[in-house]
Amino acid sequence: MGNSLMATYNRIPIAMTKGEGSYVWGADGAKYLDFCVGIATCSLGHVPPYVKERVEKQLNMLWHCSNLYEIPIQEELADMLTANSCFDKVFFCNSGAEANEGALKLARKYGKEAKGPDCYEVVTFTQSFHGRTMATLAATGQEKIQKGFEPLMPGFRYLPYNDIDALDSVNTAKTCAVLLEVIQGEGGVNTADDQWLKAVETLCRDNGILLMVDEVQTGVGRTGSLFAYQQSGIEPDVMTLAKGLGSGFPIGALLASDKTAAVFGPGTHGSTFGGNPLACSAALATLQFMLETNIPQQAEKLGKYLAESLTGLQARYPQIQEVRGRGLLCGFVIPEQAAAVMEKARGQGVLVLMAGPDVVRILPPLTCTKEEIDHCIRVLDASLAAL
Ligand SMILES: *Cc1c(COP(=O)(O)O)cnc(C)c1O
Repeated sequence: MGNSLMATYNRIPIAMTKGEGSYVWGADGAKYLDFCVGIATCSLGHVPPYVKERVEKQLNMLWHCSNLYEIPIQEELADMLTANSCFDKVFFCNSGAEANEGALKLARKYGKEAKGPDCYEVVTFTQSFHGRTMATLAATGQEKIQKGFEPLMPGFRYLPYNDIDALDSVNTAKTCAVLLEVIQGEGGVNTADDQWLKAVETLCRDNGILLMVDEVQTGVGRTGSLFAYQQSGIEPDVMTLAKGLGSGFPIGALLASDKTAAVFGPGTHGSTFGGNPLACSAALATLQFMLETNIPQQAEKLGKYLAESLTGLQARYPQIQEVRGRGLLCGFVIPEQAAAVMEKARGQGVLVLMAGPDVVRILPPLTCTKEEIDHCIRVLDASLAAL
């Protein structure tokens, strides 16, 4: 079995059959503490009862209807997102890459209308990750993601991340947008400096350039605030979401200010499944639960605890070079040994993942307990000791 699948993934030999809270079970009955939750996706843990109830209700009412019709639950979800962010308008889609595609289309159209036909360049950053579609892999500042798919879509420029001086080289007449991750998840858990973010914002404001944040991984409570940009004092024009938005149900979102969203009139963009009632029910319940029970604040506290615990490990294992991240998007740098640590932890029933070749990335459910973090640290400790 399995020979019919394309070999796009190097799969880990666990077939998960059940999930509950912070735990998953393999087909052989083995139980794992899941501190990757589908790559920052099941942020309320597996099968969260509150979300399940709302999706079950929707399952009995209506699964799908076209965006050619009014969809009240989609409007309600959009209102909730705009009420809790600096954005005014929302477009729903199905994934992170699709949300970023929408952002890139929006940026080009905005640039053309605001500054003319030659204003189409989007500035992104080295070690970024924005998706696997043709436009988003071109936006991604990593050669390994782009290799083999040339010619790449034109119109991107890559600058070094966190480098204020490099911003001087931006061609302000030609540039319609800057797209960045507040914390680069896939690229190694690299956190943006607030000062750099401010400098990017100033560059954008002074030159009519859109500031777009890809919060596909950092968004929806993960970093200790509902959205990661909110901790940096910047006010982006555009934001994309996906991973944590639907507790595992596929849904993505593109958010924009009124002024920016105005270029997306009827017929400019669309998606058949985007924001269908079933997906919106999952996202609405996820957000409601998060806001009502202060999950982002909890993630902040637990994140501090996890980072402190990892720093404790670092003191004992000098091969750990750095502890990185914010909230429950956490990682530590351990060159050459990250994969081995991940494997040893898995052998002891704890799932963590990597971010690039040298970083162990830890993405617990935001609903996890201190005891579960302690358990993860004990297993990492044993894994490090066994190297
Ligand atoms: C995962 C990710 C994407 C791509 O999302 P998909 O849903 O896999 O298309 C884009 N940007 C960031 C920052 C991501 O972490």
